Amino acid sequence: MRLLFDRVFKGSDEMLALAERTLDETVAELGESAPVNMPNTAYFLANHNTYLKKIVRTAGELKAAFPEVKQWMRRERRLADVFNTGYGTFMAAEVIEACKYAKSPDPYGGEYHGHLSDAEVRELGVPLVTGDIPGFVVIIGPAPSDEEAIELIKGYQSRAIFVFLIGGIIDQAKRMKISMGFPVRVVAVGPDIWQVTHIISFVNRAAMIFGAIQPGDREGFDHYTFHRIRAFVNAFDPVTDIVVACGAGAIAMGFPVITDDEHDMWKVPKSIIIQKNTRDFIETSLEARDIKIKVTKIDIPVSYSSAFEGEIVRRNDMWVDIDGSRSDCFELVRTREAHEIEDHSIELVGPDIDSVEAGGKMPMGYIVEVAGKSMQPDFEPVFERKIHDFVNRAEGVMHTGQRDIIRIRVSKTAYEAGFRARHIGEILYAQMMSQFESVIDKCQVKIYTVPEQLKELRKKATAVYDKRDARLATLTDESVEVFYDCILCQSFSPAHVCIVTPERLGLCGAVSWLDAKATNELEPNGPCQKVTKERIVDENLGIWEDVNECVHDASHGNLDQVTLYSIMVDPMTSCGCFECICGIEPMSNGVIIVNREHEGMTPLGMSFSEMASMTGGGVQTPGFMGHGKQFISSRKFMRGEGGPARIVWMPKALKELVGPKLDRTAKEIYGIDDFTSMIADETVTEEAEVLMEYLNEKGHPALGMEPLM
Ligand code: SF4
Ligand code: ZN
Repeated sequence: MRLLFDRVFKGSDEMLALAERTLDETVAELGESAPVNMPNTAYFLANHNTYLKKIVRTAGELKAAFPEVKQWMRRERRLADVFNTGYGTFMAAEVIEACKYAKSPDPYGGEYHGHLSDAEVRELGVPLVTGDIPGFVVIIGPAPSDEEAIELIKGYQSRAIFVFLIGGIIDQAKRMKISMGFPVRVVAVGPDIWQVTHIISFVNRAAMIFGAIQPGDREGFDHYTFHRIRAFVNAFDPVTDIVVACGAGAIAMGFPVITDDEHDMWKVPKSIIIQKNTRDFIETSLEARDIKIKVTKIDIPVSYSSAFEGEIVRRNDMWVDIDGSRSDCFELVRTREAHEIEDHSIELVGPDIDSVEAGGKMPMGYIVEVAGKSMQPDFEPVFERKIHDFVNRAEGVMHTGQRDIIRIRVSKTAYEAGFRARHIGEILYAQMMSQFESVIDKCQVKIYTVPEQLKELRKKATAVYDKRDARLATLTDESVEVFYDCILCQSFSPAHVCIVTPERLGLCGAVSWLDAKATNELEPNGPCQKVTKERIVDENLGIWEDVNECVHDASHGNLDQVTLYSIMVDPMTSCGCFECICGIEPMSNGVIIVNREHEGMTPLGMSFSEMASMTGGGVQTPGFMGHGKQFISSRKFMRGEGGPARIVWMPKALKELVGPKLDRTAKEIYGIDDFTSMIADETVTEEAEVLMEYLNEKGHPALGMEPLM
């Protein structure tokens, strides 16, 4: 039997040889000055950056770094050399892929995913910390049969494990017509093993973005990936030497490899596990990486997992379209007395979804009634907002919107599997009871589908929404007794703390003051704790002694002082999963804001990814701040610097989203009408000079404000 070391070295030689060839060809073809980069990232070639601490921008620089890559593949047969060789193999793979991207920004033309963007890394922040994504698997295939490939992928998907596919298993998945893509958490990375470099780049960027690990800090990366990224590899027989070489790198990062290939394979406890029965891969893998999956038993005929949240049910595939924009639909959570509720009762009033033909329409509204000793009416909107996720997680069911602007589609496949209206009730019952168990003791669901009745019920629901909105409007930072902190993201960003107030939601956009309050009630020792606000230091900047003490303790001494309303003086830190980032634009004396979805440039000459890389990992960076979308229209947005009148540029889509509220706020504070129209966007310009002309023309208020710096 060949020594495992020999296999690693042989495999890495193969990768290196291919890299060298590809590099030489590319330099010969494009020249040394040709730009070399991956799209939508601020971390350059992230693996070169991580291990060599080298920023590569051109083919010439890539060539110059190559001897260093080789250096990582020394052969003295010590264990450390094997691990370093694994990393060297990843870098060699990155050379091959970088050359591909140097020739075309989209070398896979949609057939494979290839490189993952920074925005994709950031998007996973919240689901990872909440455990909605319990881990990642990299499957290197093909599986013994198409059926088994699908069973394995679906098995992981139903456990909400994020799936990366490399090699032959992708063809199997395509043949079996499995839907793939980042939103459904099954990513066809590429056909060849060297595309594994994109996954490693993804992981290393997570360490830089969320963990503030610095390029070159090898120990920091190893520690981070081992402790914070629950990843593992499933490699099907035959495992080639080149896969073994990559496996050495994976193991060094703390990711175990599970395989059914026994030939020339050595068992290494906790690192290389041989499982001859491929149908047991999932169980063996989860055990190896110590991943425990919480399952909520729901009595429905389709799969249920957060992996299906991003699934889209298209017109041609749908059985029924429940469209709140054209008929009276709504969803509502109400608090009741315990004796008013028959636990687990699910009542359908009106026809079921089998009353329409395939592709038909019908209206629907449902009321989830809950009771419990600690239930408060303030929690109703918090629980209600979760309905979107709850319903969306059923395979073949799509849910969008909230309140009385919902839309639900049930696919033909789900319908044929037996999915009916009452299953929506089953989902809501099971999830309400399990997610909010410390608050809710009893729950019942009523579903209505008769148009005349819905009209009446919707009116009543609207009255409830209006009352809630009136209550929200009275919730200001001054009117409440306490704020909350949130340290959920510390599992990835150990020094980061959000302070959540009525007028400033968490930067992820998912945690409002009411959410934090409910979380505190649900889990008294959980991530959200009360923060008193008795000792005020500066009202304008938003400084409290109590808040500072909390931030000091919660950040383990990393941070002593934070302001809630300033971007220049001790701004709040960021973990990495922020919805938007704002940064100062020196010429106009204002700030620009860009949201994660926006892929283009900004007048700062930086994209979202580049701006986002200026802050993160729980570090304060005056001048740059991550925040939630809803914070933009808050009266407290940058109050220390004069407020939202500082905003000079935002992507058009973001303007449309926050415009109505922002206009109201600007009218209230400054008496300005139609303020959003004074803010430039990408259709106006991405250049600082043109931006200035536009602002002058519009008489933008930022031009007359005090200098920011
Ligand atoms: Fe993370 Fe802050 Fe959102 Fe909490 S509020 S989940 S710490 S970003
Ligand atoms: Zn976060």
